[in-house]
Amino acid sequence: NDARQRFVDRNPKSLARHIDAKQSLPGGNTRTILWYNPFPLTLVSGNGCYVTDFDGHQYVDLLSEYTAGLYGHSDPTIAEAMIDAIREGVMLGGPNRYEAHLGAAIVDRFPAIERVRFCNSGTEANIMALAAARAVTGRTKILAFKESYHGGVMCFANGGSPLNLPFPFLLADYNDEVGVEKMMREHADDLAAVILEPMLGAGGCIVAKPNFLPRLRGLADELGVILIFDEVQTSRLGYRALHGELGILPDMVALGKYIGGGASFGAFGGKASIMDRFDPARVNSFSHGGTFNNNVLSMAAGLAGFTKVLTEEASRRVNAIGDWLRSETNTALERHAVAAVVLGRGSLMNLHFVDGVVETPAQLKERDVRWLELWHVEMVLRGFYVAPRGLVALSLPFGENEAERFLAAFDDFLAVHRS
Ligand code: PLP
Repeated sequence: NDARQRFVDRNPKSLARHIDAKQSLPGGNTRTILWYNPFPLTLVSGNGCYVTDFDGHQYVDLLSEYTAGLYGHSDPTIAEAMIDAIREGVMLGGPNRYEAHLGAAIVDRFPAIERVRFCNSGTEANIMALAAARAVTGRTKILAFKESYHGGVMCFANGGSPLNLPFPFLLADYNDEVGVEKMMREHADDLAAVILEPMLGAGGCIVAKPNFLPRLRGLADELGVILIFDEVQTSRLGYRALHGELGILPDMVALGKYIGGGASFGAFGGKASIMDRFDPARVNSFSHGGTFNNNVLSMAAGLAGFTKVLTEEASRRVNAIGDWLRSETNTALERHAVAAVVLGRGSLMNLHFVDGVVETPAQLKERDVRWLELWHVEMVLRGFYVAPRGLVALSLPFGENEAERFLAAFDDFLAVHRS
């Protein structure tokens, strides 16, 4: 309560903005995930790995647009590409000069993608991949995983959402090889696709066990099921996306977030034998519209970010800092004897206040949400804009200096609140 009061006292302008916003937006909100107690900070600008709020406080940004902000803020190369594109007109109504280059760059880099199509969000990318899998196989069911998130209308956390699409979803336990195999075999005749993140990102950064993904790959091949990796978050975990790092090639991949360079973005791709069904010159081809599928700003910003900013070295570096930071935070938790763990891989990690080993989302059910809420407010008060659910996502401009300061603040938080 004391921390919450300090938060309120410190942010009068954000509070006023929040009260105003409630007049037109339900709860003052248009993205559920950006809401938290007592009210969310209104952000006015960002530079590198820093954001500034309406009351003038600067924070190290570790929410990183829920992983989409890999490039950090106001990257000059991306900004220049966007400004050039705006000067030349952004609503041209034809193929533009950027899209094929971005497509080629994605196909070159991500081994499971032989052809790609663009859309407007990660949600759309997953919907299109699933719809294509159903049309290609002539089957209807989709196997997904409990506590996974594939977009606002495919949310399987906390028992699902009343807004979920009416696809016939079967839900298995992540990392439970035996259970998934049983379910896949039982429904094989009508199972179109298995969709999962190669690390359960939104579900708490739970890494796949070494045998889990290879086993799914083998079963999908055997049963004629299309294996879809939702790499909307995880493609940032390796230069060649996480499937490239792990050497496991799904049939289809959904992309989004950072690949649009900060503009709205989604893409789905995969084997040419599936994707070429979208070739409009073909008889009975799959139609896929979308006014903004190739919007000039996303294509221009995306191309600049993907080909000029995200070098192999930059990707390696941000993921190495993440691995180091995760290890250091876990050491700090041990030192202070706090029952918590930081899970994840590379530039994505999630703090969970839970005792014992965590390999499945079910093991997170007992986590202490009061500790988490305290951590969130206290880290924000210490100048670190972290995500309320415990997510810490790094951006390319995040450096050793910020990492050291974050660790010192984390250590201080643990020392103050351990009792
Ligand atoms: N899939 C995963 C794993 C995500 O984390 C998200 C977004 O958080 C989505 C899909 C949906 O992407 P978008 O918000 O662009 O629709």
